[in-house]
Amino acid sequence: MLQQTQVKTVIPYFEKFTKKFASLDSLSRANENKILKLWEGLGYYRRARNLLATSKILVNKYNSKLPREIDEIKTLPGIGEYTSNVLAALIYNKQTLALDGNVKRVISRIFNREVSKIDFENFININKKNLFNTSRNSDLVEAMMEFGALVCNSKIPKCGICPIRSNCKFYKSKNKIRKIKREVVNKNINIFCYLSKKGEIALTKKNNLGFLNKFNLPKIESIKNNKSFKKWKLLSKYKNSISNKKLNINLYYQFSKSIPNHYSWYSIKNTNEFLPTFTKKILKQVSVLF
Ligand code: SF4
Repeated sequence: MLQQTQVKTVIPYFEKFTKKFASLDSLSRANENKILKLWEGLGYYRRARNLLATSKILVNKYNSKLPREIDEIKTLPGIGEYTSNVLAALIYNKQTLALDGNVKRVISRIFNREVSKIDFENFININKKNLFNTSRNSDLVEAMMEFGALVCNSKIPKCGICPIRSNCKFYKSKNKIRKIKREVVNKNINIFCYLSKKGEIALTKKNNLGFLNKFNLPKIESIKNNKSFKKWKLLSKYKNSISNKKLNINLYYQFSKSIPNHYSWYSIKNTNEFLPTFTKKILKQVSVLF
């Protein structure tokens, strides 16, 4: 849940989720729609699907236990380099670091070298002896992440209270490395909604926006060279941000009896099905037409 999402946003979802699914067994038996409904509003729904798929594999193949080796943990759906290392350290006390943005920043500041110029794998190998001079590897992994989040934080590091400042090149240097801003991608898109007089909208499970899934956008296509464009009426122009994408959206509609293949009519009043927030916003806007 915490991938790309802040702790304060996740807490109520986590509490509700773990109340509903208190064990790995109960999660593994859950229906995907139920999981997505609990996840609704949190975004990045692939995480929920992967969580469900992983729970099934753990129960059926690993006797409800996590495998011990990092390479084997990595074969589970949705678990990559970072998560496999966190799990191995937290659960099996393995000697490893979980390289999230916070930890990478701490290391880059200690050496006053930009993150992109550090070979982290090599760094861990070379410094193995000093880094893991402890029997508390699970605490070390967590402490590094917390230290990056609370002390050596992204905006203004708290060097005044930092216990390692005498070893920190960033602190001592006059030429401090600069923060690299995250690239924001601006995109203009046109969304075309087919509507029926019965208060329905045509939705599809296929779409051409890679970051959305399941019951999605009515239709997105280029207006350029589109001869049938006259049939469409502009409903609104609005902005929507998803991750690092800033979307400038033109929302068009037309009432129609027929819809293209792969589309199904979906009642705008239907609240039972899981819908991504992005699609819900569109439904809210077209609802003024009924
Ligand atoms: S001295 Fe400042 S920059 Fe260096 S590790 Fe500590 S908090 Fe980070």
